[in-house]
Amino acid sequence: MRQALTLKTKITLGVLVLFLVGIGLLTWLTTTRLREGVVGVLSDQQFAAVSYVASEIDQDIRFRFDSLASTANAITPEMLTDPAKLDPLLLNRPVLLSLFANGVAVANRTGKNISIYPKSLTQPGADFDRLEYFQEVMATGKRSLGKPRLGRVTKTPGVAFAVPIKDQSGNLIGALIGFVALADPSLFGQLESANVGKSGWIAIGDPKYHLIVTASDPSRALEVMPKRGANLMLDRFLDGFEGSGVAVNSRGIETLTSARQIPSVGWFVQAVLPTEEAYAPMHAMTNAIYGLAAGMAVVIGLVTWMVIRRLLAPLSLATSRIRAMTGAKGDLQELPITSRDEVGELVASFNQLAAQRRQADGALRASERMHRLLTENVQEVVFIVDAEAKRFLYMSPAIERTTGYTPQEIYALPLYHGIAPEEIRRRLDSLDRHVAAVRAGDEGEGRYFTAEIEQPTKDGRTLWMEVTTSYYHDEATGHVCGRGVGRDVTERKRLLKELEAQARTDALTGLANRRHFLERAEVELARAQRYGGPLSVFMLDLDYFKRINDTHGHKVGDLVLCRMAQIFATTLREIDLPGRMGGEEFAVLLPETDAESARAVAERLRATIAEAKVVLDQGLPIDFTASIGVATAKGPDGNIDMLLSKADKALYEAKNQGRNRVTVAA
Ligand code: GH3
Ligand code: MG
Ligand code: MG
Repeated sequence: MRQALTLKTKITLGVLVLFLVGIGLLTWLTTTRLREGVVGVLSDQQFAAVSYVASEIDQDIRFRFDSLASTANAITPEMLTDPAKLDPLLLNRPVLLSLFANGVAVANRTGKNISIYPKSLTQPGADFDRLEYFQEVMATGKRSLGKPRLGRVTKTPGVAFAVPIKDQSGNLIGALIGFVALADPSLFGQLESANVGKSGWIAIGDPKYHLIVTASDPSRALEVMPKRGANLMLDRFLDGFEGSGVAVNSRGIETLTSARQIPSVGWFVQAVLPTEEAYAPMHAMTNAIYGLAAGMAVVIGLVTWMVIRRLLAPLSLATSRIRAMTGAKGDLQELPITSRDEVGELVASFNQLAAQRRQADGALRASERMHRLLTENVQEVVFIVDAEAKRFLYMSPAIERTTGYTPQEIYALPLYHGIAPEEIRRRLDSLDRHVAAVRAGDEGEGRYFTAEIEQPTKDGRTLWMEVTTSYYHDEATGHVCGRGVGRDVTERKRLLKELEAQARTDALTGLANRRHFLERAEVELARAQRYGGPLSVFMLDLDYFKRINDTHGHKVGDLVLCRMAQIFATTLREIDLPGRMGGEEFAVLLPETDAESARAVAERLRATIAEAKVVLDQGLPIDFTASIGVATAKGPDGNIDMLLSKADKALYEAKNQGRNRVTVAA
């Protein structure tokens, strides 16, 4: 994951970016304006300089032409035929000779070189008839300036000034020609003194011959100027423009150039300054500003960082304390408010929240304590079961007292365990039915379901639990859950069973009592009547029992009664039911037994009783006998009372006939 920037970093970076953008914009704006200003000022300055130089040179040139012309006026036709007559005229004009240091020549009408001064020039030179300045003078009768070139005699760059020589009637008779070296400081000295910066230069251009006449760098004299199209400003100057402008020159360098015409000769003075140099101070300034800005950025960044850190220190402190609280179990603590700004407000709000939380936590804990007291200290097992996930969500500690399993062990075990698989199936189905009913809205809070269920214990017993459950939709799990209470009813169930058994049996002998006997007898009779099977009953009464009681005591009588139960158990079949009807009177129900069989059983029973004795610790064994009346149900009619009454009658007869005998009812 990308590391998130801290607020400190963000603000510091923001301030720095703003600062740098501001400085950058300011610098850009300043330099742009300054550049315009500088170009304007330099243009004016440079134009002023070239104007001055141009006018100086123009004056010099005019002065030279004027000097030549005044000498030419003094030349007569005779002097042209006799050069010796020229000497006094020209040699007496040292100023003229100094103006034309490379010499002054006189040509006749045909261009013949008649004489040259100073005489020290060893080579008088050739004629002038082929030279353009001579031809021009002769053609126009006006002054002419030659093409700048290497002098034929001097072999240095120079230029010729030519003026006409006329006779008195104004006819052209020749030309006076003066030569000047281009390096002559008296003519172009201003070029060197003109201030055009370190890398700039100044030059004089001759548009007619597309040449540089001379320049502040004299080696460029006579250089051919760049072709048209190579330098837009130069093209304009060649066309006669006077002024300044910025253009890229033939060598690809941006330059500020200014030019001014020299009207007397059609030349122009051109000053060139690479803008690089013009802008150099601005570059220096920009660099200085950027350097300063970089330094300031470091300082501003540091200061901003420190100030923000100081301002945010309470926030950092609060954050670390809150973080520490998050991990800890305790309450949310109040934080110290160290500043009265937004951070302070935040901390105060947190404190308010913390106070609320503490209050709520306290209330929650109190309620939890009460809840725990209730659920964990009642005898009953309290539980919550997720009826859909089929697991317990909560089980109170009472489960351990009840089953031996701790709640944790119960959570780890399957929901139902230790009971028959079909019972597990039945309970799971029941859960599913409750889930469906709650989801359908047919069941919910307030409806309770009670069931007695088997619950295995850890030591392998099975308890009976009475469980009351209500089902509801749980928000937290999204499941239907059941919450309930279970109580151990094993003992109650046992007692109930015992009570039921007691209600059915005779306490002394353990035989069925009268009521139970009659109930069973009725059922068996109904069955016999439905299926047409035989059914017999005995009525049995001990003979002279009063005597036994009287002779040996009531307790011995009881022993005899108990002995009867043993005799029934050994003599009768499993399906036969003996019962004590009261006192020493018994009845026996014999299902599927006809009269004949019944007589046989009764006889065997009577004989067994007669042989039986009750042996006491001291004294003689006690004999006893019984009389038995037998009755057998016949056909689908009659009830148990009638049948027993028949057997009773038969018993009465047996008594009458002398006792210890069996009588079968007719
Ligand atoms: P009979 O041959 O005519 O039946 O003579 P009997 O002495 O058995 O006469 P009867 O049936 O009238 O007497 C029943 C006696 O049984 C009366 C009573 O004292 C005694 N008896 C009744 N119930 C109990 C009992 O639960 N325990 C004892 N020990 N004696 C009982
Ligand atoms: Mg009796
Ligand atoms: Mg009796």
